[in-house]
Amino acid sequence: MNWDEIISDKLQQIPPSGIRKFFDLATEMDDLISLGVGEPDFVTPWHIRESAFYSLEHGSTMYTSNYGLLSLRKEISKSLDQDYGLDYNPEDQVLVTVGVSEAVDLALRTVLNDGDEVLIPEPSYVSYEPSTILAGGKVNKVKTKPEDDFKLTAENLEQAITSESKLLILCYPNNPTGAIMKREDLEEVAKVVKKHDLLVLADEIYAKLTYEGEHVSFPSLAGMKERTILCNGFSKAYAMTGWRIGYVAAPEPLLSSMMRIHQYTILCAPIMSQKAALEALKNGNKQVEKMVDDYNRRRRVITKGLNDIGLDCFEAKGAFYAFPSIKSTGLTSQEFAEQLLKENNVAVIPGDVFGSSGEGFIRCSYAASLESIYEALNRMEDFLKKL
Ligand code: PLP
Repeated sequence: MNWDEIISDKLQQIPPSGIRKFFDLATEMDDLISLGVGEPDFVTPWHIRESAFYSLEHGSTMYTSNYGLLSLRKEISKSLDQDYGLDYNPEDQVLVTVGVSEAVDLALRTVLNDGDEVLIPEPSYVSYEPSTILAGGKVNKVKTKPEDDFKLTAENLEQAITSESKLLILCYPNNPTGAIMKREDLEEVAKVVKKHDLLVLADEIYAKLTYEGEHVSFPSLAGMKERTILCNGFSKAYAMTGWRIGYVAAPEPLLSSMMRIHQYTILCAPIMSQKAALEALKNGNKQVEKMVDDYNRRRRVITKGLNDIGLDCFEAKGAFYAFPSIKSTGLTSQEFAEQLLKENNVAVIPGDVFGSSGEGFIRCSYAASLESIYEALNRMEDFLKKL
């Protein structure tokens, strides 16, 4: 069989995930401290799990509406209004998806024609580029810099735009840098978006994990709601990664088009997860606050700790990632991460897997216990001394 001819050309453009490759190295190791995974170390709060048991006991085992349970969409709409003053009609402007992952894929497949360009601030979450390529789009990376606190600036965006540019992806708080963007930063970007008539995919999955100031939701800015596809979900803030549940809110013509893909490919998100998400939104805020307080404590420890051992680390203000520079070691990101793993049993993610502008950095997730973070810092210090 000639597999190269069989496997689609689009797929062949996509390299295997750099994160996966790295985890394969780590899986066999004993006494490993992992700051690798971008996943809460908390179990989903009990009342949320209980609501899923309850729904199963009462026979909730069917498909739901393709859009998702109306009760959940109403609660999503209410929370968007309460948190950000956003007004989305739960009937036709909210779609429940299988995680933000599905929401991003739907958004890209809905708006991209072959060759349309997607502006992706880099370093970036690893899925945007492959999802763009699979949807027929072209990737145009916009580098963000440590001296700008890894924010997307209006100037950098303006310079990157071409006549093919159609959609900008915004992910703040950011994976992998932990950067956030304040209202005034976003307003500058919004001016450029308007000037060039761009669409925006706002992946705000880390919105609730904002440690300084308030998260500003991009569609809440003047004139932006009509051109924004807002994606959010439950994986990070509610520690619900395994439930595979998220949502998208967008103007009706966009949402009904996304819904057409969703109804043929997914049908609906699992009903148990939808019930659990409903409970999360209704009664989960206290638990979220506790987890956010915990992440915040860890954030301070890891940022100070990394700087103290000589790895220059900008102060991330959102998500649960620290993104220190390892340039002073003279190693590449891959070399640093591989050697640290092999010699001192600490897993971090080399920054270059998030794009070439991540070279010279590593991503350390602090969704790990304080004890693990302290031990990882000790081991990293030891590793640095040996270099
Ligand atoms: N978007 C970002 C920025 C992420 O970091 C992740 C997961 O790491 C996702 C989306 C995927 O989210 P979900 O679990 O809701 O599919």
